[in-house]
Amino acid sequence: MSTTAFDVIIIGEGIAGLTAAGALAKHGLSAATFEQQIFGGLVLNINELDPAPPGGEAGGAAFAAEMTQANAEAGVTSIQEPVTAVAAADGGFGVTTEGGGYRARQVIVASGARLKMLGVPGETEFEGRGVSKCADCDGPMFQNETVAVIGGGDSALQEAQVLTHYCGKVLLIHRGAAFRAQQRFIDRVQANEKIESRFGTTVEAIVGGQMVEKLRLRSAAGTEEIPCAGVFAYIGLEPNTGFLPAGVQCDARGFITAGDTLETAVSGLWAVGAVRSGCGGSLADAMAEARRAADAVAARLK
Ligand SMILES: Cc1cc2nc3c(=O)[nH]c(=O)nc-3n(C[C@H](O)[C@H](O)[C@H](O)COP(=O)(O)OP(=O)(O)OC[C@H]3O[C@@H](n4cnc5c(N)ncnc54)[C@H](O)[C@@H]3O)c2cc1C
Repeated sequence: MSTTAFDVIIIGEGIAGLTAAGALAKHGLSAATFEQQIFGGLVLNINELDPAPPGGEAGGAAFAAEMTQANAEAGVTSIQEPVTAVAAADGGFGVTTEGGGYRARQVIVASGARLKMLGVPGETEFEGRGVSKCADCDGPMFQNETVAVIGGGDSALQEAQVLTHYCGKVLLIHRGAAFRAQQRFIDRVQANEKIESRFGTTVEAIVGGQMVEKLRLRSAAGTEEIPCAGVFAYIGLEPNTGFLPAGVQCDARGFITAGDTLETAVSGLWAVGAVRSGCGGSLADAMAEARRAADAVAARLK
């Protein structure tokens, strides 16, 4: 086998991709993971995972580093190149990256998702100047200041809680009438005196000079501008799927649909983790299905 051909190529070194690759190596298959940024994916900057992954570190970066190290020791090849295209060819797959071309007998797509943007004026302009996607990294910049978290799901409530370690006040802004998060996160938010929740409210614009200074909000009561130094949006995810071959089916939001076996409509191409429509949402869910797909791939290749 040439150095650019593998039994299985796994797209993404998030927790799902790392789990799948480790399981494939245990089956004795040659596996390569491809990553466009840095290993870890969505949890790279989460210092306190909740729930913590089974048997793993509570910090996302440490957990991913542990898995990456174990994979390297098990013989998994890690290639730091973004995948730009996948095509069925000669009974297997051709995988094109920004760095070259590779072949695999089977492909597991574990390319995850990215945080959605609000899409309001000021969001791009103030990125890194008050607009952030990382509470753990940027929270310390807002000591005793007021910041806003946008969203009403688990991530928004978890990250609002993280920001109270640093900030004077956290405005939790949700367009719905009630949170869509697990009850334990809702209970914690409600018990935290630093968090003020506003329902039925949307962000119209992020306003400032050198740095973010205000947020323009709209609710049934009308429009108002509130002073605010930082803005963190956790309003959902968008799948990373730009490289998929024709024939793979996706749901209305663009997440890959796969059968119970986790195989997509293209034979030999599997989807696991946050990129898959219906994935449970927690690390434990992503890891469980990555192992399941790896076992199915191994059975197919025997
Ligand atoms: C803010 C936040 C907090 C969370 N906290 C928790 C928690 O505390 N506990 C918990 O259980 N779950 C938590 N989750 C959920 C958890 O993050 C996901 O279940 C899990 O990370 C999904 O992993 P994944 O590997 O499927 O996807 P991702 O983590 O998205 O990883 C996908 C990887 O693929 C790479 N990639 C994408 N496209 C390409 C390409 N074309 N070429 C090469 N590489 C590519 C990406 O760069 C990324 O590294 C949280 C989620 C968010 C958003």
